[in-house]
Amino acid sequence: MKLNLTYQLLAEILDGEAHLQIKDAEIDVVYYDTRLISQGQKGVFFALQGHKNGHDYVKEAYEKGIRLFVVSKTVDLPDDASIITVENTLSALQTLAKHHRTRFSYPVLAITGSVGKTTIKEWLYYLINDHFTVVRSPKSYNSQLGAALSLLELNDESNFAIIEADISKPGEMELLEDMIAPTLGIYTGVGKFYAENFNGVKEHHAEQLKLFKHANICFALEEYASPLRRSKINADLTTMDQWKDFDIYDFTFPKNAALVLHVADFLGVHNKELKEKILELPVLPNRMEVFEGQNGNLIINDTYNIDIDALEQALNYQFFSNERQEKVVVIDVSYVDEDRRDSITEIVKSFDPSQLFVLDEDNVLPEEVYKLKNASILFKGSFRSNLSKLVQRFKNRKHETWVEFNLKAIQHNIDVYRSKLPQTTKLLVMVKASSYGTGDANIPHFLQQIGVDYLGVAYTDEGTTLRERGVSLPILIMNTEMNAFDDIVNFCLEPSIFSLDQLNAFISYLDSKGLDDYPIHLTFETGMNRLGFYPEDVEGIIDTIKNTKTVRVKSVYSHLADADNVDTEYTRSQIDKFGVIRTAFKAAFDQPITFHILNSEGASIFGQEAGFDMVRLGIGVFGYTSRAEKDELRPCLKWKTTISQIKTIEPGETVGYGRTFKAEEKIQIATLRIGYADGFRRSLSNGVGEVFINGQRCPVVGNVCMDMTMVDISNVDCEPEDEVEIIGENITMQEFSEKMDTISYEVMTSINKRVARLYVR
Ligand SMILES: *Cc1c(COP(=O)(O)O)cnc(C)c1O
Repeated sequence: MKLNLTYQLLAEILDGEAHLQIKDAEIDVVYYDTRLISQGQKGVFFALQGHKNGHDYVKEAYEKGIRLFVVSKTVDLPDDASIITVENTLSALQTLAKHHRTRFSYPVLAITGSVGKTTIKEWLYYLINDHFTVVRSPKSYNSQLGAALSLLELNDESNFAIIEADISKPGEMELLEDMIAPTLGIYTGVGKFYAENFNGVKEHHAEQLKLFKHANICFALEEYASPLRRSKINADLTTMDQWKDFDIYDFTFPKNAALVLHVADFLGVHNKELKEKILELPVLPNRMEVFEGQNGNLIINDTYNIDIDALEQALNYQFFSNERQEKVVVIDVSYVDEDRRDSITEIVKSFDPSQLFVLDEDNVLPEEVYKLKNASILFKGSFRSNLSKLVQRFKNRKHETWVEFNLKAIQHNIDVYRSKLPQTTKLLVMVKASSYGTGDANIPHFLQQIGVDYLGVAYTDEGTTLRERGVSLPILIMNTEMNAFDDIVNFCLEPSIFSLDQLNAFISYLDSKGLDDYPIHLTFETGMNRLGFYPEDVEGIIDTIKNTKTVRVKSVYSHLADADNVDTEYTRSQIDKFGVIRTAFKAAFDQPITFHILNSEGASIFGQEAGFDMVRLGIGVFGYTSRAEKDELRPCLKWKTTISQIKTIEPGETVGYGRTFKAEEKIQIATLRIGYADGFRRSLSNGVGEVFINGQRCPVVGNVCMDMTMVDISNVDCEPEDEVEIIGENITMQEFSEKMDTISYEVMTSINKRVARLYVR
């Protein structure tokens, strides 16, 4: 802080009752917390009345060299102290901030809204800091006090300011607006929840938007157009779609990403540069993370920011919990202003840690830290420091229960199918049910990358999810719902039509919207008896379609019922029936129509013969057909868990619910972090299911629980946290699904969402 004031000048600005011992002494820094005082001689102490009363600390401030005090009560200080008495010390500080603000004419961009302010501030800073010298709110500080302190950081060396502002009830924003006087704004909206103190969401919007009453322009997402219009704010709006080429959908907060890209673009940062930088945006974990680390250590990871409040919170957490006796603090001060470093270490020392490690610019963790055992270790630093990465080394590298998908195997399997098909035959991959349980959009994105032509899903909402996640391939909807036409059209999805009623309904819908030439797919029944027109419907359909401009037949298809049967007779009869339908359509329409009937099993045998224009692959992509081995498909999935505890069971003791297992001899069991809620079915209880640990098969002991399973490890050398294979090289998908009396499709789609998905390239 460099305020460039004198005692006299400050007294004039604050218009208080001044008792100044010297008039022309200089002031550069404002203090309100005695622990932060580093340059006493050039400071002024504001006795604020927060959860502690600043008036109780004036003596301490005096001892640290402060000679000028702003107070609202009588205080007892030595004679050489100068005192300015005001009615309200916080208002006085805000008055000073406002005055300081007026000395700078560069852009001041204020961010308000209920969500994402700090992320947006830090991301925007990251995107523009090669173009501007930016001063920004140093903390995620956005209260009345925080905004004032942020403004006091404005200085001559900078040429751009980013300030966060927030309010908790109506009537507070006027003051902030007056003080911050933003020239630019970012509005993040009220999110899903509006605060209790506001009379509904409209009022919440209106109160927040008062901040931008005099701003030149406010940036926001298009969804906030109406509140902005109602508040008569000049707005520059953007949509997520506009930034989809920047992979914003890979972010947890794609809206924030779209917004900062929009603002950085406005501020003149080139697209090329944005494309590079967007990949490196800092991840801001916004809460302290506590986890069991290696060597019995308890890790408190608070490497987000290093302001005093957050530091005290973390220390309180660490020192008032009895989880570990030894308390170690590792603090990285490399992004802390020189003058605050001492105060920060002093605060830590006041908690009397067993060991304290202070890191600065070189960012190297001392060897001793790696050797700690059974300690609670607090890591504290700014997210910009290296510490947030170093902490990862203290994690138990093992996840609890996870399923890994090998993308190389998927690519290989796609190549196998390509080799079985005529060159012109296109590939559609069915990604229904979250791509056979592999996760919402990762596999579809990968398939898009490796040149698959089409995607297919069962229901419309699966298609909209893919679009929302930025998948741009054409998407066929298999089981089109009558009430989903709006979504179909809005998200550029292509419906399958399987009845005349449905065809007519879709045609009238398109008519009512004035839409022409909309791609549709016709499903035909050839022996599956599930969905589809009958061969006899062909003429009627052709008539209907020839009589309208609204739809265009993009493809005609059917589905095989028995493709994995070694006896191929039924499949051949289906292919023959389909051939007749195909001939009829080819005769009726000039335009090219795509014909397809083969699924994975079908493509494996009939690829050359009946691949037609496209095949629809599913399970084969993941490597699990009946002919997988012959076709040299690679299994893509590994399902793993870990051991949480090991126990010895004496003869006569029982294990688990219902006591269905009783030990006849002494055995050792391991409790695993997986249960029927994860998809490890209860029917695997009591020896039906086996898992693989350190080279040995281990049968299930007792009943499978919801979240845990016990297995016999009497003959296995293992310890807690060791990895356990549920499905993989040793327990194959085939074995596992046979034990559960089902098929790979059901195994894949019943691995619960709570199981982490990892995609390995
Ligand atoms: C699921 C599905 C497929 C893919 O089947 P796989 O046996 O997984 O290859 C193909 N077409 C339709 C209509 C489907 O429902």
